[in-house]
Amino acid sequence: MAICRLCKQEKKLINSHFIPAAAYSHLRWDTNLGLQQSVIINQYTNSIAQTDKQVKQPLLCGACEDLFSKKGERIVGQLWATQSGFPLFEILRSKEPAATHPLFEGYSPDSIDKGHLDALVYFAVSIFWRASVWDWQRDKNPYGNGLGARYELEFANFLLSGSKLNNFCLYIELNSDEKTRRMFSFPSCVRREGSWYHSFVILGFRFVMVVGAGESKMKRVCDMFGFNPVVGISDYSSTAVFKGLSEFARIAPRRGKFGRLDLATLAAK
Ligand SMILES: [Zn+2]
Repeated sequence: MAICRLCKQEKKLINSHFIPAAAYSHLRWDTNLGLQQSVIINQYTNSIAQTDKQVKQPLLCGACEDLFSKKGERIVGQLWATQSGFPLFEILRSKEPAATHPLFEGYSPDSIDKGHLDALVYFAVSIFWRASVWDWQRDKNPYGNGLGARYELEFANFLLSGSKLNNFCLYIELNSDEKTRRMFSFPSCVRREGSWYHSFVILGFRFVMVVGAGESKMKRVCDMFGFNPVVGISDYSSTAVFKGLSEFARIAPRRGKFGRLDLATLAAK
């Protein structure tokens, strides 16, 4: 028995996955070398390795784990990119964008089924919250407890009881580039123009969030569109973040049997 991090009750805890177990199978890919394990690129420990290791720890009780699954993961798991397609991208692409920007096309949240949109918001909030309360132990990570005490509590209340999120702005981006969809990144937090930008990618989606009362470019985008969350389509492979990652992957030391494989060849499959 231990204290569940979400409901704070003393219960038997589940060994919770950081990202849904269902996501891992889509991070592997078939190549002419057979089914490959996923590749972990860690810019903090300066390494690249092939691994099937899943990030888990006792965090939630069964009831809270169920809540995460029912309100977020299970639904998002039907929308993200797999080897056979990217269902939500196909739906969105068939709709007319509400606004076009040089870097992305923005869509009205009405373009997406309300249940799907609510699940995407819930899922994103649950991943940011998890990253913030996670005990990273010796693993270096770019997030720390990135939400801070106030928003950690607000997010927990939203996840538990659906209470309103204040000063919260979310951008949900769908990647139009097929080759760079099958990735996951742990949440990171960077300060830009006086605001903290929290983000992560998972199987074709990129979630970018700003919390706090201050002005931010992201808030201006939400105000400009008149939507929150803003949903958009963009080419992730052309972002500065991805270009930086590719360059890192090209020069970083490799570990284990991955040392014998060529990342550029595999990524092109
Ligand atoms: Zn609980």
